[in-house]
Amino acid sequence: MKQDPALRVRFWGVRGSYPMPGPSTAGIGGNSSCVEVRSAEHTLIFDAGTGIIGLGRDLVRRPGAPEVSVFLSHLHHDHIEGLRFFAPVYSPEWRCQIYGFGNGAQSLQRILARLMSPRFFPVALAQLPARLNIHGLSPRARLRFGGAHPLVVAAHYSGAHPKVGVMLYRITCAGRSVVYATDVEAPRGGHDDVVKFAAGADVLIHDAQYTDDEYHGGHLNKAGWGHSTVRMAAEAARAAGVKELILYHHDPEHDDAEVRRLEKVARTIFPRSRAAFEGMELRLKPA
Ligand SMILES: [Zn+2]
Ligand SMILES: [Zn+2]
Repeated sequence: MKQDPALRVRFWGVRGSYPMPGPSTAGIGGNSSCVEVRSAEHTLIFDAGTGIIGLGRDLVRRPGAPEVSVFLSHLHHDHIEGLRFFAPVYSPEWRCQIYGFGNGAQSLQRILARLMSPRFFPVALAQLPARLNIHGLSPRARLRFGGAHPLVVAAHYSGAHPKVGVMLYRITCAGRSVVYATDVEAPRGGHDDVVKFAAGADVLIHDAQYTDDEYHGGHLNKAGWGHSTVRMAAEAARAAGVKELILYHHDPEHDDAEVRRLEKVARTIFPRSRAAFEGMELRLKPA
């Protein structure tokens, strides 16, 4: 059987901060951050919010090699809270690689082990049946996944998320590229790190959590919390010269109608903008 050489991107969780299930968010989806990027031979996952739970359930039923690589942007709860319920880690057949910014040897491993220590969770990290490897990435890492359709993941550690920083990822396969830039903030024109790192990409997946009012005023001013408004996301896309912008990491308090309204706001600045929703799939044919 001939393999499909396209790069596929599927959204499993599109919320920031915390999950928000319910009828008012059913169209966009209520799960926290998780995106799958798949080539003919490799399955990569970006972030492990609650969206990864449904993805895990799906993965263990798919044909193909029981192998997956999970890339964490950072360790805030909304990006790791689904990892403990990710089906492949409970299966001895599966090989799971987990990557994230590792400040010194073993630090990512230590933090994940703490997350699965008895006070927080009944199953310890070391007890998981899967073959699990945890890799701390350097600030400018580059990984190559070989085969007939090689795929490259470039990681770029940025200070665009206050206090802890965040890993930006750029995935390239057959001349097409997708940039994953969640949890980033820059009041005007896009964050320099994101604009440079995303230059010319086919798809930019960008934090778009707030409205202008939420960011600049209102009863709770959210400037400095580490997130973008949709306007900032659109400015970043324009400055980086990407082909398409996907608004991501939606605020859990924004219902379906509000996310659709914000999508229109983004389009006034960058016409090729779309709001991510659960189940949304992009297919990038080789260039
Ligand atoms: Zn987040
Ligand atoms: Zn965060």
